[in-house]
Amino acid sequence: GQTIGILGGGQLGRMAILEGKKLGYRFVTMDPAEDCPASQVADEHIVARYDDQEAAHKLAQKSDVILYEFENIDPHLVRLIENLKPVPQGSRLLSITQHRLKEKQALASANIPIAPYRAVHSQEDLQAAIQEVGIPGVLKTATGGYDGKGQWRIHAWEDVKRLPQTIFTENHSLIYEQFVPFIKEVSVVVARNSEGDIEAFPPVVNLHRHHILHMTIAPGPMEAESFVHAKRLAIQVAEQLQIVGLIAVEMFLLQDGRLWVNELAPRPHNSGHYTLDACVTSQFEQLIRAVCGLPLQSPQLISPTAVMVNILGEHVQKFQAEMGRLPSQGKVHWYGKTEAKRGRKMGHMTILAETLSEALNIADQLPIWSSLTEAEKQAIIAKSTV
Ligand code: ATP
Ligand code: MG
Ligand code: MG
Repeated sequence: GQTIGILGGGQLGRMAILEGKKLGYRFVTMDPAEDCPASQVADEHIVARYDDQEAAHKLAQKSDVILYEFENIDPHLVRLIENLKPVPQGSRLLSITQHRLKEKQALASANIPIAPYRAVHSQEDLQAAIQEVGIPGVLKTATGGYDGKGQWRIHAWEDVKRLPQTIFTENHSLIYEQFVPFIKEVSVVVARNSEGDIEAFPPVVNLHRHHILHMTIAPGPMEAESFVHAKRLAIQVAEQLQIVGLIAVEMFLLQDGRLWVNELAPRPHNSGHYTLDACVTSQFEQLIRAVCGLPLQSPQLISPTAVMVNILGEHVQKFQAEMGRLPSQGKVHWYGKTEAKRGRKMGHMTILAETLSEALNIADQLPIWSSLTEAEKQAIIAKSTV
């Protein structure tokens, strides 16, 4: 059979491998860690940093096709591999999505609605940006941020003085964007293959806690028009960027029904993990199919509703103690990580049910520390606040 090489060894790679093996593929992974989530289920593993050209050659030699499972990889390395073997996702998509400024520019030139923003390279730029965009806003590093890291909320001018001064001296590229008073966070994962075939998964609604995804609800409760609109926007992004593979499009739904794109991820997305248990085809299988030139399969839901809850490092002990008493309507997925650091994604559980309120009630009883507040519950269930 064909061998697929994977740059990156996290849980996204792991779940892609588990799905790809069902289709008969072999897998070789490359990651600096010996015992990473993906290497545990791969056929072969290369322990190497992402700037190791020799290792990249080795990966290319052993593989028929290569994919990446996260966006913080040096595009030079991917370009080097592209010269040896097909990398259908491509280095161009990577260099756009790993840089917020390039990503915003790509979205704006594709006529995708986004929040007003300015590029910031100095203290003076920031002053001007705040004057033009307004307060409140969010200052974000252009590269390297995830789970809200590398982000600072600006509620008042005083907040500017409290920023770590190193963010300017290190010659970072930053962006300042308007704080969006969204009513919901929505995301859509879209798969596209080299033939241009496109399949979008149902739009979902996401709830974050401390800037980390806590819960995903599928299908996302929202007005029918918003549902159609979100799907159409995501497909537009996939077509404009000529994606091969997956693109996850994070959006803000505003009170008046407008949808603004927040950011993109050129890979499987945490908010798409529910597809493993709740859809005809998972996002991981769709990725494998797209990069291998197979036709895409149906992304349709096979359960009326699904709720996915992340299991973080701080939840692990309690969750594992309760493994024998988990709700029978759910599926647990552990990522094989040993070090349960606070905020680290260790696994997830998906609850399948006939109705959203039933799924939410079950999800709310999971042995993680935080149950939903009444306000959170209302915000999720409401189709709109108008
Ligand atoms: P991820 O873990 O999704 O990659 P990230 O660190 O790359 O996150 P964003 O997705 O841009 O960063 O922001 C994290 C969260 O912070 C968003 O999901 C949203 O809840 C909030 N947020 C970010 N930007 C804004 C904004 N302009 N207005 C309001 N809320 C925002
Ligand atoms: Mg991000
Ligand atoms: Mg995000």
